[in-house]
Amino acid sequence: MSLSGKIAVVTGGSRGIGRAICQRLAALGALVVVNYVSNPAAAEETVQSIRSAGGKAEAVQFNVASGGEIEAAFKKILDAHGRVDILVNNAGITRDGLLMKMKDEQWDEVLNTNLKGVFLCTKAVSRGMMKQRWGRIINITSVVGFAGNAGQANYAAAKAGIVGFTKSVAKELASRGITVNGVAPGYIVTDMTKDLSEEVTKMIKEEIPMGVLGEAEDIAGAVAYLASDDARYVTGQFIHVNGGMFM
Ligand code: NAP
Repeated sequence: MSLSGKIAVVTGGSRGIGRAICQRLAALGALVVVNYVSNPAAAEETVQSIRSAGGKAEAVQFNVASGGEIEAAFKKILDAHGRVDILVNNAGITRDGLLMKMKDEQWDEVLNTNLKGVFLCTKAVSRGMMKQRWGRIINITSVVGFAGNAGQANYAAAKAGIVGFTKSVAKELASRGITVNGVAPGYIVTDMTKDLSEEVTKMIKEEIPMGVLGEAEDIAGAVAYLASDDARYVTGQFIHVNGGMFM
């Protein structure tokens, strides 16, 4: 599996799952653009870890919920590198709360970042990918988008929205040599899950047949496969990486 010579953009590449994806794609030879929104130190750490392993990476700041910032950022990326071959829509946030107490802002923030962000970034790369007749778009959804979760109606709606979006765009772009797929993580150890209480973590583990939470690298492996030529005939699909939690 080689991604030598490919240009990859990973949204939310500064930390957690995104960082592991950046490191894996770079290890396979891609030049990786590490996107972040508010944490330049973490993004720089990702970049340095890749460079010290002999890979190529650079950090680029933009908010995936902002059409204006995306337009400016992708113009710079295209000016510098000429094209984007691989886009991983990974940036995501949670603003949990039960439906009856959920504020409009909690809904809007999560939908804008987790779903509209996927639409905006995909649109930004699709014209170039169509012209070059090759592209890989990989969207990070969640087990919650398939199974639902009390307290996460906003997050589950956004993640389920990614499923319909992925399948629709896969159909639109298939004839141009572009595949559009998703990876649906279960519970993975990152900043997003670090504040779960011991009691909740115990309950979650009881629902996972493998009995442990996953690592960011488990998701990176699935993304690398979907980005590779081995997956050239795979489109509109989801790889579930969840220790058996949802089948
Ligand atoms: P994380 O550790 O909280 O990292 C989130 C990343 O997203 C950071 O790099 C952050 O950048 C970036 N980000 C957030 N808002 C952004 C915005 N508006 N524009 C650009 N970047 C933004 O999260 P994670 O656990 O690695 O999750 C990564 C993806 O996997 C998310 O889509 C999440 O929903 C999904 N997922 C995670 C789990 C899990 O158990 N962890 C399970 C299922 C799905 P800064 O560093 O600049 O803040």
